[in-house]
Amino acid sequence: MRSGTPAETAAALALPPWQAALQDAVRDPGELARLVGLTPAALGPAAATGFPLLVPRGFIARMRKGDPHDPLLRQVWPHGDELAAAPGFTADPVREQGLAANGLIRKYRGRVLLIASGACPLHCRYCFRREFPYSAQLAARGDWEPALSELRKIDDAREAILSGGDPLSLSNRRLAELLARLTDLGFETVRIHTRFPIAIPERVDAGLLELLGATRLRTVVVVHTNHANELDDDVARALERLRAPLTALLNQSVLLRGINDATDTLATLSERLFDCGVLPYYLHLLDPVSGAAHFDVAETVGRRLIEELRARLPGYLVPRLVRETPGELSKTVVA
Ligand code: SF4
Repeated sequence: MRSGTPAETAAALALPPWQAALQDAVRDPGELARLVGLTPAALGPAAATGFPLLVPRGFIARMRKGDPHDPLLRQVWPHGDELAAAPGFTADPVREQGLAANGLIRKYRGRVLLIASGACPLHCRYCFRREFPYSAQLAARGDWEPALSELRKIDDAREAILSGGDPLSLSNRRLAELLARLTDLGFETVRIHTRFPIAIPERVDAGLLELLGATRLRTVVVVHTNHANELDDDVARALERLRAPLTALLNQSVLLRGINDATDTLATLSERLFDCGVLPYYLHLLDPVSGAAHFDVAETVGRRLIEELRARLPGYLVPRLVRETPGELSKTVVA
């Protein structure tokens, strides 16, 4: 499908604009190459894997045309390097698939994580859940009841983390229903991990703001941005609207080779996030997921980058460099 703007498409299909933008996202590598003025050969032949290309047109519009090294393009282009085997890179890099039951993961003390949806607004090639078996998790398929029944038995959990996929791929009605259930279960805080406001800023619509403003839960939203070029004016306005009803609005990034592994790039990202009312929270070392080894950055490089950021930015703009270690009760802060 290809028609006008997401708003025009939405009007034609009677969909919310964000759903129209998602439906209209590019799924064909050849089309993506053409839209950025390149040939697939210039980008490296697309890898035919089980993790298909998905990228919204608004995200593509922020890519530099004719540049195969564009940092946004590199995050979504399924490069043939994904097919190369790499020692230590596996389908379940943080060993959580055995922990997930009905979409519920209890990894951290005092917190529970619900895989609230298996759908995403774009497919990030380095995603640690790119091989997560969402279809085996009931909550990700829309049936939360078994997970919520399990939550009833847990009395030390105060914070519910909604993850995915992307929990903002749920409709506002479903999301409001979920927040109401979590409130009834005695949770105090809900944390939403999402890439939607960055990938499809239309997702920050009046209904979402209304439900976030109405809940009795404290609300923390952690968006996911890796490069300042992702934050154009539409995204900045969406983040400004989103911040109003929240308790906190934070960002997490992944340290990615050739995309943001330079001090200037990370400093510009932190400053641009701050312009948008977002505080940098985590900079993750790459989880070693199959197909993503070409994005890996050595821990020593990560430490040096953080030191250099500390020398030039106020402390509140320096993210914590972290690593996820399977079996640990919290992330390991590396620097
Ligand atoms: S949006 Fe998040 S969950 Fe989805 S592919 Fe990207 S990093 Fe993974």
